[in-house]
Amino acid sequence: MTAARREDEVMELARRRGFIWAAFEIYGGASGFFDYGPLGAALKRKIESLWREFYTLGEGFYEIETTTIGIRDVFDASGHLECFMDKMVECKKCHSLFRADHVGERCPDCGGEFSEPQDFNLMFKTRIGAVTSVGGKSEAYLRPETAQGMFVNFPRLLRFHRNKLPFGIIQIGRAYRNEISPRQGIIRLREFTLAEAEVFVLPHEKNKHPRFHEVEDVVMRLKPNYMDEEIEITVKEAVERKIIAHEYLGYHMARVQQFLEKIGIPVERLRFRQHEHDEMAHYAEDCWDAEFLSDRFGWVEIVGIADRGDYDLSAHSRKAKVDMSVPVVTGGEEAEGAREGNENLSVFPHVIEPSYGIDRIIYALLESSFYKEEVRGEVRRVLRFKRCVAPVEVAVLPLLNRKELVNKAKEVFQMIRSHGIFAEYDASGSIGRRYRRQDEIGTPYCVTIDYETLENDTVTIRDRDSMKQVRVSIAELPAKLRGDVESMFTFSR
Ligand SMILES: [Zn+2]
Repeated sequence: MTAARREDEVMELARRRGFIWAAFEIYGGASGFFDYGPLGAALKRKIESLWREFYTLGEGFYEIETTTIGIRDVFDASGHLECFMDKMVECKKCHSLFRADHVGERCPDCGGEFSEPQDFNLMFKTRIGAVTSVGGKSEAYLRPETAQGMFVNFPRLLRFHRNKLPFGIIQIGRAYRNEISPRQGIIRLREFTLAEAEVFVLPHEKNKHPRFHEVEDVVMRLKPNYMDEEIEITVKEAVERKIIAHEYLGYHMARVQQFLEKIGIPVERLRFRQHEHDEMAHYAEDCWDAEFLSDRFGWVEIVGIADRGDYDLSAHSRKAKVDMSVPVVTGGEEAEGAREGNENLSVFPHVIEPSYGIDRIIYALLESSFYKEEVRGEVRRVLRFKRCVAPVEVAVLPLLNRKELVNKAKEVFQMIRSHGIFAEYDASGSIGRRYRRQDEIGTPYCVTIDYETLENDTVTIRDRDSMKQVRVSIAELPAKLRGDVESMFTFSR
């Protein structure tokens, strides 16, 4: 199966089964915009919940929610007005627009000649309220990242944390980039969801992360910008050899890999690529992309981990005339030494930022979970989602659409749901067809009610991946589905 056909198959399944489809489809769609259907929204919500837990429970970070529209001052200070640009060319013949770095000398559509490249700002511009005759303050932009909302609130967040550094803040939400000519489906969107963490730390403390020992043995595949090949190396060694600049960056890169693995992205399709110096965003001191190896698109960035230095806090301090520097003693005992000889020493905290592109992660999950095989002359398509992200955890199916089986199945269905397990009930079509449908949407387990159920109150649980079935009593079903259901099939294999 060619890569293009595989992607088409995955996206065809995603459309047909209600994961993702083009926005405004009845009007012909608009490139760069997608909607999530019922199963896609459920999948996305699960990934976001796991992400939120990973950083709140796992790291002790707090979540905030800031506006998606930002006033001009914010993006003037952040550098986005001046620097958030792509070079654009226009075909002189058919007037199609392209990103200059995505095309050669001639228009791929008609062979026409291109205009001189022009700068194009990628922010969507809007107005707040009515337009005044002199413009000015009403000018606003849809945010290109959620991060700025966390930077402009830094003084309040610092107070909330009782003036103690380091601390981390997270945010999940929509962001917008007015891409010139997005032609890569869900990989390049004009409206998308970011999940970002901003970790504020004193610059001299970046070399020592208090929990570094927990991740130091994580093996990562790195592609540093000064090397031609990739290396496999532990985080500990990478930091010791200064391939990764410091422990804070190394720690958060390892945590990114752990999160991606946790939700089911295969680690053998992951690498971390360091940005070339001329490729780095205007705010970044150092930046690594976690990239997923896609069958269709090659290496695709799904998470960016940047050391933004003090770029943002110092820029907002200047623009807003609010001093966001902190006395170095904020860092506690270790920083006390740094204070000696300079009572008034203050610095801007540095920011380490893991920034996750949720939509691309969803694409990566769909592509890497998709599996096709022939079973008794029929094609079986499967999304091998891990249970923690599967939109439907359990399907409850009466073997046949007969009243006595249907009644019992509905009873079991309600009982499972009352235990907090998200289940779907399906009685339409042959049992084989219903299994295939559940396989396609990635449901890990099907519970089937048959005539034996009516005799002795037992049901079968079918495992999506092995297609094996085990029989359990209804009484122990919730506990099995909650807890050791996987081990039941591991032992039977
Ligand atoms: Zn053209």
